[in-house]
Amino acid sequence: MNTELRTQGTDDMTRVLLAEDDPAISQPLARALLREGYEVDVRADGASALEAALNNPDLVLLDLGLPAIDGLEVCRRLRAEGRTIPVLILTARADEVDTVVGLDAGADDYVTKPFRLAELLARVRALMRRTPTDAGDDGVELVRIDAEGRRAWFRGEELPLTAKEFDLLRVLVREQGKVVSRESLMREIWDTVWLGSTKTLDMHVSGLRRKLGDDATSPRYISTVRGMGFRFERPGSQ
Ligand code: CA
Repeated sequence: MNTELRTQGTDDMTRVLLAEDDPAISQPLARALLREGYEVDVRADGASALEAALNNPDLVLLDLGLPAIDGLEVCRRLRAEGRTIPVLILTARADEVDTVVGLDAGADDYVTKPFRLAELLARVRALMRRTPTDAGDDGVELVRIDAEGRRAWFRGEELPLTAKEFDLLRVLVREQGKVVSRESLMREIWDTVWLGSTKTLDMHVSGLRRKLGDDATSPRYISTVRGMGFRFERPGSQ
């Protein structure tokens, strides 16, 4: 397991909440997840799944057809509370249109039943690779990065970033709370030695700040550290 990705857990185990009422699915799936080294909490109805979500799992596997509160509503409520925890939908029929609606409800991905275990586990791993920043004062995660898929989310909304803006955000978030020098940004992102002018870099920082809704004169997220570089601020550090 990749430890750098578990910045928020209080312990080492990656915890998966599996909300599925069909034991013929949940039991083998739970066993497979345990074998993969995840801690698994299985819930067979939506109300109990919402309750279990309060324990801050790292990922939710969510069947849509759940008793009490259906999966779609579970997902909506999680998002309405501002929780950006990855949600992978399990849906019985592709034609339920649930796939699309599920994503509208704020789910991150879906698989249709019957699914191959290997494929599902690969999707789970892909979602877990997204590196989150610390949550803000309101408990909402600021930025989540999927380095492999080259996608980034700000407060749960996907950011429309250019390639360089993505790289910039990825490096700054990786070094969250620390100053990253202009030289090292130029080297890592542009693969070039610093030749004195970093106008290009400044331009991309401006673009990125704009997309984060950050004010260049008093930025909340990306600070300029004069004579040194930039720092992605930890929430509540100012
Ligand atoms: Ca079901």
